[in-house]
Amino acid sequence: MRAYVLIPLYLFVVCLPVLLSWASGMPARSFRNDLASGLGLLAFAMILVEFVLSGRFRSVSSGLGLDITIRFHQLVARTALAFALVHPFLYQWLPGPSRPWDPTRQLTLTSDFVSLLSGILAFVLLPAFVLLSMKHDDLDYRYETWRLIHGLGALLIAGLLLHHALSAGRYSADPMMIWMWGTMTAIAAFSLLAVYVLKPAYQAAHRWRVSSVARLTPRQWGVTITPDGHAGTPYKAGQFVWLNIGHSPFSLRENPFSISSAPSAGPDMSFVIKELGDFTSTLDQIEIGEKAYIDGPHGTLTVDGRDEPGIALIAGGVGIAPLIGILRDLHLAQDARQRVLVYGNRAEEQIVFQDEIDRLAKSENTQVVYVLQEPPDYWFGPSGLIDAGLITRTFDKGQFGSWLFVLCGPTAMMTSVEEALMEHGVAPDRILSERFQYD
Ligand SMILES: Cc1cc2nc3c(=O)[nH]c(=O)nc-3n(C[C@H](O)[C@H](O)[C@H](O)COP(=O)(O)OP(=O)(O)OC[C@H]3O[C@@H](n4cnc5c(N)ncnc54)[C@H](O)[C@@H]3O)c2cc1C
Repeated sequence: MRAYVLIPLYLFVVCLPVLLSWASGMPARSFRNDLASGLGLLAFAMILVEFVLSGRFRSVSSGLGLDITIRFHQLVARTALAFALVHPFLYQWLPGPSRPWDPTRQLTLTSDFVSLLSGILAFVLLPAFVLLSMKHDDLDYRYETWRLIHGLGALLIAGLLLHHALSAGRYSADPMMIWMWGTMTAIAAFSLLAVYVLKPAYQAAHRWRVSSVARLTPRQWGVTITPDGHAGTPYKAGQFVWLNIGHSPFSLRENPFSISSAPSAGPDMSFVIKELGDFTSTLDQIEIGEKAYIDGPHGTLTVDGRDEPGIALIAGGVGIAPLIGILRDLHLAQDARQRVLVYGNRAEEQIVFQDEIDRLAKSENTQVVYVLQEPPDYWFGPSGLIDAGLITRTFDKGQFGSWLFVLCGPTAMMTSVEEALMEHGVAPDRILSERFQYD
């Protein structure tokens, strides 16, 4: 699904509770009370849609790109938190019996403490949950532990909010609202089921085996997996998968890696993996024949279907992984278009596949620009970072005006290159990028 379908669909679903509350025909009341309910309804709907946004559904992430989907997920979480926190304080005093826990009656419209309790618990848990998610990289526990806490915490909050909406709200007894909240919560819970049960069950029936593991540079490894008893998975050059090596498909131990092989080369999938944390630092322990599982392919970093007359591939460090896949695929497809690969590293020893890249550069319409931050004495190529100056020196007006630019690398490089390209008039739809980190 493309963005022009997904965005109106998203807005419709999130606004549906407010639309149904208007349609419920309840007597009019003050604007403040309507605003208070409206923000509460919006916050709950936004939280429920968050489950689908983070559910790695290809129909969602392939339309927008997974990094945009995750960034949107983060932004919506913060907005929903603000709405949820503000909404109880907007309610105005209403006549009725006194409530011992709320003498000013600013917080509640109901006198039943049990119906309020779920809302109060969610009110306390939600900020803690969002804060924990924003800071998870700084906390000293494994990524997989964070994912588990995130999934279970989200489910708990959704359950509390469902109880609150069906018992404490003005519209809690409205049959349409009950039906809508039930359906939306069921879809949210299903997306967790899909990620943690249905997809792993599919993966268990489509196992792969590690067919090669090799150190490519001091801190980068090449890993290849081969389909075990099936024909493989169709993918486009430049896409990525969640890869699980050596664990049950139902475990949470999987990491996203870009595919560095070309689909036209056969069903095997290769990866270039940089040592970083607990999984990537143990690649030397992987044995040939080890079981592997993939969730994917995902991602929109692909030149398939693009008809620009030239393609610029700009890679920093391990960002070469998807771009070498694209370069290999263009070569195998005998694509006649001009291409330039700009490939930056700190030191020469970090360049992967140098022989292969040099061969491609000699044999066809491919120009390669290696950039080193710390070049050796004999280095004749450009040195420093891949930045606006280097981009200006490497490409000409015609290329900025018509080529496709594909970027993958550290966040700082991507930001400065994207800005430089836009300053040179490259239209945003001719810039494709993949970020390996979401924050
Ligand atoms: C779309 C995408 C493509 C990527 N492609 C490559 C690649 O081709 N080569 C490469 O070397 N690296 C790639 N990465 C980065 C790679 O996923 C992380 O370096 C790796 O997961 C670290 O795992 P670890 O267990 O060694 O380290 P940890 O210490 O567990 O994780 C370090 C950081 O990696 C990220 N990370 C870890 N697990 C996950 C996960 N399951 N989902 C999302 N993020 C996670 C988190 O930000 C975490 O804080 C890619 C990342 C993304 C998002």
